Amino acid sequence: MKDTDDQLLEIRQRRAESINLLLNDYYGAPHWRNPLPPLDELVSTILSQNTSDHNRDIAFNNLRTQYPSWELVRDASTDSIVSAIRSAGLANQKGPRIQQVLRSITLERGKLELDFLRKLDTEEARNWLLRFKGVGPKTAAIVLCFSLGKPAFPVDTHIFRVTGRLDLRDPKMSVENAHQYLESIFNEDSYYSSHLNIIRLGREVCHPRKPDCPSCPLNQICPSDFNLNMVIP
Ligand code: SF4
Repeated sequence: MKDTDDQLLEIRQRRAESINLLLNDYYGAPHWRNPLPPLDELVSTILSQNTSDHNRDIAFNNLRTQYPSWELVRDASTDSIVSAIRSAGLANQKGPRIQQVLRSITLERGKLELDFLRKLDTEEARNWLLRFKGVGPKTAAIVLCFSLGKPAFPVDTHIFRVTGRLDLRDPKMSVENAHQYLESIFNEDSYYSSHLNIIRLGREVCHPRKPDCPSCPLNQICPSDFNLNMVIP
């Protein structure tokens, strides 16, 4: 049984490497926006939950314009924070959560910054972030990967769907477990490019309802390519 699991892992690792190369050829090496400081990235990522990047950015910029420091955000009335981040949706939930995270960091660290996480190893930094309500595996991995430059592979809805179709993970695996598993499938050096290019593929080609397999750069290696008469969940 262990041999079979190890063999499957190796097959998936090789496929992940091919996917990274093919997508880099097709899309080019991706570049996200310039990194934000880790606390900014954490708040921005909480705002991004269940909304578009565009609405997240409006909410984040609005918040920073009205409250130029995180201390001011922490100490403002909750109603005014909810109002400032309204465009991100779920503002009644996200506003109190952001303030609670800011209060907890202040209590624990004595000041509002997360740069100390740079000195921790990846798992220590991840576990530190995961203790906060509203900070799940995806949010923590985004802060680790994009702000702190640590090896983490965030799994959003596109990554989860596309990696399932590409058989890079068990189809019944939960999204929480997919973070750790996909980190073992992709090479650390390719986390950044694979994450961004698979999201792009998920948005532009591998759509939730009607994936455009004929024009997909991965259709030669994808086990779900409908041209091969396979079922695409
Ligand atoms: S071949 Fe089709 S199912 Fe496979 S990744 Fe491409 S678009 Fe998605």
